[in-house]
Amino acid sequence: MQEIVDPWKLSQIMDKLTGSDASVGLVPTMGALHAGHMRLAQMARRESNTVVMSIFVNPTQFGPSEDFDRYPRDLARDREMAADAGVDLLFIPKLQTMYPNGAGEQQIWVDPGRLADNLCGATRPGHFRGVATIVSKLFHMVQPQRAYFGQKDGQQALIIQSMVADLAFPIEIRIIPTVRERDGLALSSRNIYLSREERLQAPVLYHALTAARKVIENGELHAGPIETILRREIAGASLARLEYATVADQHSLQPVTGIMPEKNIIAVAAYFGKTRLIDNLMVGLQYGVPTFS
Ligand code: AMP
Repeated sequence: MQEIVDPWKLSQIMDKLTGSDASVGLVPTMGALHAGHMRLAQMARRESNTVVMSIFVNPTQFGPSEDFDRYPRDLARDREMAADAGVDLLFIPKLQTMYPNGAGEQQIWVDPGRLADNLCGATRPGHFRGVATIVSKLFHMVQPQRAYFGQKDGQQALIIQSMVADLAFPIEIRIIPTVRERDGLALSSRNIYLSREERLQAPVLYHALTAARKVIENGELHAGPIETILRREIAGASLARLEYATVADQHSLQPVTGIMPEKNIIAVAAYFGKTRLIDNLMVGLQYGVPTFS
């Protein structure tokens, strides 16, 4: 595994790879790697000749009162994990390289518009603009054929999918199923913030989604009752403070009144103490029969 800081050096390496068999898979991350990131890298390894993983804690996707300064960082461990997962190039750009106008300063942004109005976007103004902007920079620098995102951050993955379609990036976006702890909690770099009690209650998000799945399988297609079940389940965990529990259309990311034939995302977010956790389930309807991912 080779480690690169300078995007021009990266670009020279990438240029040498271009040709009819060029097949580069990019896994963008903020580091503090866990088995969820590893799954993305393994999928990239399976499908690409060259796997590039980026590690960059992007300031523009953190709000002023969010955890940018205390976001977990452990480069030594990340290096080992990335090498184990078969990453060829570990790209760790400097802040000045990604934001030459100054930390988080940017004259031109990639604006996800209404896609950022709901779900996490409603309480994290500017977050998805920061995500779309940094991911488009990474796409320009790496020029991958495929890029890998986790379903865990469902709204993010769907916004990136729309971004490549609307801005004509010739990149296939692969959305990889959420990797979970044995009790159902979605792996997240932020799980280490949880106290012992919070950690015990945190799987309630997954249990709520599982309960929603069950009622949908039993024929409930209205969003209202599905959202009520999500809320009721999460209210059962004394340490959980619900932020949202919403059924939305997978393309527009707007709330819907019922499960649509096209794909839907059922998404939840809740605070446990100061730690904000999210999870989701994607639901389609084929010939009236629900399918889940
Ligand atoms: P992050 O480092 O948190 O920005 O995440 C980098 C990528 O890993 C994103 O595409 C995430 O959606 C993905 N990811 C994070 N947690 C998981 C998980 N539990 N399972 C699968 N992918 C994940």
